[in-house]
Amino acid sequence: MLTFEEMWQRIIECDRKYDGLFFTAVKTTKIYCRPSCRSRKPKKVNVEFYDQIGKVEEAGYRACKRCQPEVEHSPQVAIVKNVVTFLVNNYKQHLQLKDLAEEVGVSPFYLERVFKQETGETPRMYLEKIRIDKAAYLLKSTKLTNLEICFEVGFQSSSNFYKIFKNIKSCSPSEYRKGLHYELDGS
Ligand SMILES: [Zn+2]
Repeated sequence: MLTFEEMWQRIIECDRKYDGLFFTAVKTTKIYCRPSCRSRKPKKVNVEFYDQIGKVEEAGYRACKRCQPEVEHSPQVAIVKNVVTFLVNNYKQHLQLKDLAEEVGVSPFYLERVFKQETGETPRMYLEKIRIDKAAYLLKSTKLTNLEICFEVGFQSSSNFYKIFKNIKSCSPSEYRKGLHYELDGS
């Protein structure tokens, strides 16, 4: 669902949104982390990604003491994780709160409340950020036009896409593509 480059970008940005969806394993230290871990970034060539905690531990990695990726999650966190997984896999679709609630088997009201409690954001805001992450990736790695990308990542209107992109990235999609934005060096 996410490419190596996308996951790499997420860990460079210490992106909490993707915590629990995948784990960063560092071959040289044999430690694994959450995407949001604030420890010094490993070299790209030393990183591998796992989507399940069982697999990363089986491969002989130990949990990072700083970000504690193995810490047992509450039922609320499990709900949020399931929703985020669903969003990352279905961001192209027109999704409403009730679809998400149905997916994880709770009421829309409860879902919104728990989600906000755990992430500080609504599922809608989260979905928009996931779409913009994907759009940013496509801008950098494909020749699709802005408009094609807008629809490809699930926005219904280009004005909405431009507005939200600018809100999150502080530049337009075209500026982002040309590299006229601040970027951390990921190498
Ligand atoms: Zn860590």
